[in-house]
Amino acid sequence: MSGNRQLTRAILALGSNLGERRGTLSAAVGDLVDRPEVRLVDVSPVVSTKAVGGPPGQPDFLNMVIAVDTSLDPYELLAHCQSVELAHHRVREVRWGARTLDVDIITYGDEQSQDPVLTLPHPRAQERAFVLYPWALMDPNAVLAGRSVAELAAEAADMPGLEHAELEPSESDGPQA
Ligand code: ADP
Ligand code: MG
Repeated sequence: MSGNRQLTRAILALGSNLGERRGTLSAAVGDLVDRPEVRLVDVSPVVSTKAVGGPPGQPDFLNMVIAVDTSLDPYELLAHCQSVELAHHRVREVRWGARTLDVDIITYGDEQSQDPVLTLPHPRAQERAFVLYPWALMDPNAVLAGRSVAELAAEAADMPGLEHAELEPSESDGPQA
């Protein structure tokens, strides 16, 4: 199977709402593309998002998306994303709870799958402005399930809670570098 596989464009969504969130996202992008089978194509701005669902009182999420070209098959890419999550000490006990890093595969080429282990496109991406909005900023012509990603973002219920995170001061509780 592996070896001569063609490159497939995939969209990955990254989120963090624990610890050094921006540093985690930057390091995770590096980790995700730190192998020859995954090539970085594009990176979105970082947005700040109120946590959706899950326990109350969580810190805001920082979210971004990246585009990669990969020769990994979809399940290999999922395993790779999960290994990067684990490398950042993601806590998995509380579903939708605070987490240092979440990496989701939003699309893998035109692949469609209903497998709960890997559903493609990601089943909740269409309603998540924290995925759609940075994706539309990265690629204004992006399309998901036949719809404009920018239009889907504008309709998403969590859109009003979104802000650009680019100008935030240091998140560190300690002394600033
Ligand atoms: P969520 O990302 O929805 O908040 P998790 O990150 O805890 O939740 O993911 C739970 C499970 O979702 C993972 O074990 C994974 O197998 C499955 N999953 C299904 N489709 C996808 C996808 N497109 N991308 C990432 N994980 C997925
Ligand atoms: Mg996930």
